[in-house]
Amino acid sequence: MTPPAASVGGGLPPGARFAGGAVAGPPGWHAGDAPADRDLAQCVACGLCLPHCPTYRLTGLEVASPRGRIAAMRQVATGRRPLDRVFEQAMDLCLGCRACETACPSQVPFGRLLEGARAQAEPGRAAPARLARWIGLEGVLGHPPLLTGAATLASLARPVLPPRLRRLVPAGRLRRRPLAAVTEPSGPRRGTVAVLRGCIQDLWYRDVNRATVTVLARAGWRVVVPAGQVCCGALHAHYGHLDAARRLARRNHPVLAAADHVVANAAGCGAHLRSYGELIGADDLAARVRDLSVFLDEHGGPPLRHRIERRVAVHDACHLLHAQRVRDAPRRVLGAIPGVELVPLEEPGRCCGAAGLYNLLQPRMSAALGAARAESVDRSRAAIVAVGNPGCAMQIGAQLAARRSAVRVAHPAELLAAASRP
Ligand code: SF4
Ligand code: SF4
Repeated sequence: MTPPAASVGGGLPPGARFAGGAVAGPPGWHAGDAPADRDLAQCVACGLCLPHCPTYRLTGLEVASPRGRIAAMRQVATGRRPLDRVFEQAMDLCLGCRACETACPSQVPFGRLLEGARAQAEPGRAAPARLARWIGLEGVLGHPPLLTGAATLASLARPVLPPRLRRLVPAGRLRRRPLAAVTEPSGPRRGTVAVLRGCIQDLWYRDVNRATVTVLARAGWRVVVPAGQVCCGALHAHYGHLDAARRLARRNHPVLAAADHVVANAAGCGAHLRSYGELIGADDLAARVRDLSVFLDEHGGPPLRHRIERRVAVHDACHLLHAQRVRDAPRRVLGAIPGVELVPLEEPGRCCGAAGLYNLLQPRMSAALGAARAESVDRSRAAIVAVGNPGCAMQIGAQLAARRSAVRVAHPAELLAAASRP
């Protein structure tokens, strides 16, 4: 286990504990969004999740562990403590990686609990923090023209941005040529697949979206990129803006549900689409959503005509491994490429520290986790690290660049597109 290093514990003081007190539910939060008693009751405080929790491993603090966070949620639920700053910080320091869920024998739905706790804490935040979150999440992220404008400005200003913001803006990646609305398959049509374009994914990694469309079409699918789709709402949900997340989900539901299948190539977005049943009752859509690697693993990929003579390591995005419980599919589809040698990473399943806006909001913890992940990638002696999530790709790419590593970051779709070219 990584030795505790309380110095990266963000705003939590060493030995932080929750004090008791009266519940002070701030105005504006919906009681229905608070952590549910039945979910809280599932935790038996066994502690088996603790060694798997990145923030506990790095701080050694119970308050920064899943068990500690659940205890705090219970104290709030039973009126034994207020929604104070320490509670807010404990929830903020959580990555939402859900490694604790995979480890938990009692199947505690920690991701759902965390979203509820953050929704509860949100109205009590300091006004500037609330305003910044509202502008970022509801003002910009939910409105594609504003998001494109903000990304263009960020791209232009990249050289003068502070380092922690610069890490969120990949150099020279902004693409203008739009994706085709419809791409017909090579050969007989097997059905129609709708691709979730994503917002961050489409702005910074449109080449990955293009490769995704190409790979699916070469595998025999008619690929549509529905025009009316908006941000999936994952970040809104993770940061406690559940009403906004529901609004976005309701806009996406009819737009995506028309296709036979829905494919996401960003693990965080895919995991969130798969939660639309729980969020807005869209079980019909949620059941048809697959990560690209899973879809190709289930249905067969394109003919692979070219060799890629490279050692390839697979970084498991937390929202693929822990939220969607997918580990083998990316390895199977990449391992089928002639010439590819898959190499393992130390501590598979270790979070890279990207976690949505975490690298912006918790820069020290995020940098510690990112550096550790980049080091393990370097030690694997891989030439390429395959990453199926844009946040992880940015984080690992930035950390590898800081180490002057020669390892290249690629999305599985890019490797499959290269191997399946005519
Ligand atoms: S979340 Fe699960 S593993 Fe962790 S303490 Fe609770 S019951 Fe045990
Ligand atoms: S989601 Fe990740 S960081 Fe948060 S408590 Fe669970 S394991 Fe720890």
